[in-house]
Amino acid sequence: MDYKKEKMDELLNAQINAQNVNTVDKEFKDLMKSLFAHIKEISADMRKAFGKTVNEFKLQMENKIAQVREQLKGGKDAGEYIDLTLSKPILKYGAMHPLNRIYKRFESYYINNGFNVVSGPEIELDKYNCEMLNMPAHHPARGMQDTFYLEFPNKILRSHTSAMQIRYMLKHKPPVKIISPGIVYRVDDLDPQHTPMFFQLEGLVVGENITFSDLKGTIMNCVQNVFGKDIKARFVPCYYPYTEPSAGIDITCPVCGGKKCRTCKHSGWIRVGGCGMVHPNVFRNVGYPENIQGFAFGYGMSKFPQIEYKLPELRILHDNNIKVFKQLH
Ligand SMILES: [Zn+2]
Repeated sequence: MDYKKEKMDELLNAQINAQNVNTVDKEFKDLMKSLFAHIKEISADMRKAFGKTVNEFKLQMENKIAQVREQLKGGKDAGEYIDLTLSKPILKYGAMHPLNRIYKRFESYYINNGFNVVSGPEIELDKYNCEMLNMPAHHPARGMQDTFYLEFPNKILRSHTSAMQIRYMLKHKPPVKIISPGIVYRVDDLDPQHTPMFFQLEGLVVGENITFSDLKGTIMNCVQNVFGKDIKARFVPCYYPYTEPSAGIDITCPVCGGKKCRTCKHSGWIRVGGCGMVHPNVFRNVGYPENIQGFAFGYGMSKFPQIEYKLPELRILHDNNIKVFKQLH
């Protein structure tokens, strides 16, 4: 009669709750198996009494377990029970695009320095992308940016975000202080250093008494803020139809710190963009007064993550392979 009596008492006295209900239920069922198996082994005269004990035990346990399960399902005390045995869904984290991570550093620098962020359409009117930026039809400078022309008349895929400068100036009087980030398109064969679309960040500052020194200061401060105080910028004479004078922006190679390496083609410098004082024709085209000056600058943003993460090919940035981006963290 005492067969497994201790175990039965232990289970009957157990405090069953959300944490242990499954374990207790399993122990109970295992015990029942061995109790039923034992019934066959005991003598006939003892069998009835033993069967009665086992049945009572079975009913009580089933009741206790059912009660707890009922509460877990949403009974009045359900709030007190948390089923810790439930497996939780595995959360799959994404990763911020390397381009976005670097862009955010630039953006916060410019926002902190009073610039507004403006964005515009990627399908752009020819007059905003070229004509009003001092590149009328048949101007030889149009060949500098091999543009994708669309079948719609006068519409193109923008070859630079400078088009936003025109759109903004047509709607706002000076002073102007904006940056304009976005994807731009140029006819280019796909190779390790080129893609037919890339990410550009442009800026425009317009007002009275704006000088080339202001332009230099803005660029220098920005690159040092984003890449560290050791980085220097230099300005190399250059030609753009919409600025005069114009300059290419070089920064000391962040990979070798200017000591010359493969990334900077052993020059110590990397060309990251262009800039200049806004051409008077551009101001005339948007109806600004003659006493106004301004400067514009643009960075080829895709260069920066390529340098920072030593990417062998530029197109990795546009393949959107999340496994690769996670490794870049
Ligand atoms: Zn280098």
